Parts: sequence; C-alpha cells; structure tokens
Amino acid sequence: MKSVLFSRFFLLLPWILIVILMLDVDTRRPAPPLTPRPYFSPYAVGRGAARPPLRRGGPGRGAERRNESRPQPPPEPPLPTIYAITPTYSRPVQKAELTRLANTLRQVARLHWILVEDAAARSELVSRFVARAGLPCTHLHAPTPRRYKRPGLPRATEQRNAGLAWLRQRHRHQRAQPGVLFFADDDNTYSLELFQEMRTTRKVSVWPVGLVGGRRYERPLVENGKVVGWYTGWRADRPFAIDMAGFAVSLQVILSNPKAVFKRRGSQPGMQESDFLKQITTIEELEPKANNCTKVLVWHTRTEKVNLANEPKYHLDTVKIEV
Ligand code: UDP
Ligand code: MN
Repeated sequence: MKSVLFSRFFLLLPWILIVILMLDVDTRRPAPPLTPRPYFSPYAVGRGAARPPLRRGGPGRGAERRNESRPQPPPEPPLPTIYAITPTYSRPVQKAELTRLANTLRQVARLHWILVEDAAARSELVSRFVARAGLPCTHLHAPTPRRYKRPGLPRATEQRNAGLAWLRQRHRHQRAQPGVLFFADDDNTYSLELFQEMRTTRKVSVWPVGLVGGRRYERPLVENGKVVGWYTGWRADRPFAIDMAGFAVSLQVILSNPKAVFKRRGSQPGMQESDFLKQITTIEELEPKANNCTKVLVWHTRTEKVNLANEPKYHLDTVKIEV
C-alpha cells in the first residue's frame, strides 16, 4: 500500500512542478505602471530622455529576458522641446503670477522655461522660486534701461532678446534638436491644449488670443488653411496684427535667423510682434493652429494692481515673510 502511494506521488511530482513553474512565469508579466501617464503628466517633464514607467518591484532578471525575447517597437521620435520665454519684473504680485504660471507649465511634457528677470541681478525671490518650481528652468536677468521704463513704450524687449540669445548660444554647436519657442508673459492664462497645438509648429504657427486689443478676442483669418488677414479692433494695418501670446516659432527658424531680435529703435508701440515676425517669416508661411484659428486657448489676462493702502511704512510684524 505504502509503495503504491509513493509511486503515485513520484508520478505526479513532475506535473506539480510544471504547474508551479507556469504560475511563476505568469506572475512575471509586466505590471501596469504605478501611476497612469497621461500626455500632460507632471512626471513626463522633459529632462532629456523619457523616464521608463514605474513598475511594481525592480526590473529583475525576468524583465531582461523579456526584452530579449519580444521584439520592441521602434522608438518614437522625441517630442520637440517647447521653450517658453517669460519676462518678469519685481512687483507685489510677482510671486503669485509666477506660481500660477509654473502650475500650468509643470503639466506640459518636455518644456524648458526660460525665466528672464527685468533686473540688474537675479533676485533672491525668483532664485528661490525657480529652485522649487519642479520643472526644467533657466534663470536669466537683463535690466531695461531706465529711459525705456515709461508708459507707452514697449515692455520686456531686453528680456525677450536675452532669452533668444541664450537659446542661440545653447544650440550653437550641435544640429538643432526639434524645438519650439513661445513667448509666455507671466500674467496671461494658458490652456494645456495650447501647448499641444504649438508643439507641431514647423516654422511659425499662429492662433487666436482672448481678451486683447479692446475685443473679446483677436484672431488670424484663415481661408483654405492659409492666413489671409486679421480679425482685430486695433491697428488693423499692422503687418502681423497679433499679440505676443498668439504665435510660436520653431527653434530651427530662430537659429537660421540669428539676427532676428526685438528692436527698441524705430519700433512703434504695439508693433513689436510685427517687427519681429517680419524678420523671420511671411503671412503666406504662417501655420494656423487651434482648429483653423477658431478656438481661444490663451487669454491676455491682466492682474489688477493690488491695494496696499494699509501697508505700514516700516516693518511692524515680528517675522519677515516673503509674499
Ligand atoms: N515686464 C517686464 N518689465 C516691465 C514690465 C513688464 O519684464 O517693466 C514683463 C511682464 O512681467 C510680462 C511682460 O513683460 O511678462 C509683458 O508686460 P505686461 O504684462 O505688463 O504687458 P501687457 O500685458 O500690458 O502687454
Ligand atoms: Mn500682460
């Protein structure tokens, strides 16, 4: 009786081992990522190579074997990097504006923020802010000469040019990686969809801007996929009747037009965009975005001046607080 039991057991043993082995192989199948990765994942912020998705447990040897046996799809071309140039200057609402903007930009994959302070040196407030912003950021400064700090004169000329100079310097040696440049003032409001639209810019792309020019919106007029004019309530004679927030330029175009800058001399108020775009493109070349320029994805919002009427002349509080 005993020997019958033993022989049955040894007969079954290999089968039991096979079942255990198969179960083990099954559990080594790739686990789903710990965090779902939507297109605008904050974790997908481009610091060079894309990160592999998080997995439960380490990759281990099983993962290596998997890679060998299964053919991998060819790697997708990298997303073009979006370079956002933001001029900014010291004022009571500065940190609030930058916080709001960083909260938007942090959600955009492969975005490099070029923050240019209108100041003789980088301030402590902005330096601290940048260190904690949680996105790839270059912090520059360029002061506006005092004679240009007057109402009616164009703002942020020197800062935008400093951003352009940095970009050209950074890419002076290597062949340009795919990239798109966009001027992002610190007080505007940007939808995430806008960045999806501008990312496919081949040369210069354009789209509507809300709450600008004394109207609810301004927009390029499009016929058969081409820009043919401008819907605007202000100086319709401008060659490019568009706000700074209404266009993006490919890095390639910026690099192949090394002299294109914002000019102080001869520039009339409100003509900065036209003066700049004239140097790098033509109306015929413009690429309409946002559903043939029929969607507003960015708003030229302006922050009300804060009331500090009750602010004491001298520091009264027991602590010093950065606002
Ligand atoms: N700006 C600047 N220095 C100044 C005034 C403005 O760097 O003296 C920046 C500002 O932070 C913003 C951009 O330039 O990012 C445009 O300025 P603003 O929003 O005041 O202009 P507007 O909305 O009236 O065109
Ligand atoms: Mn503004």
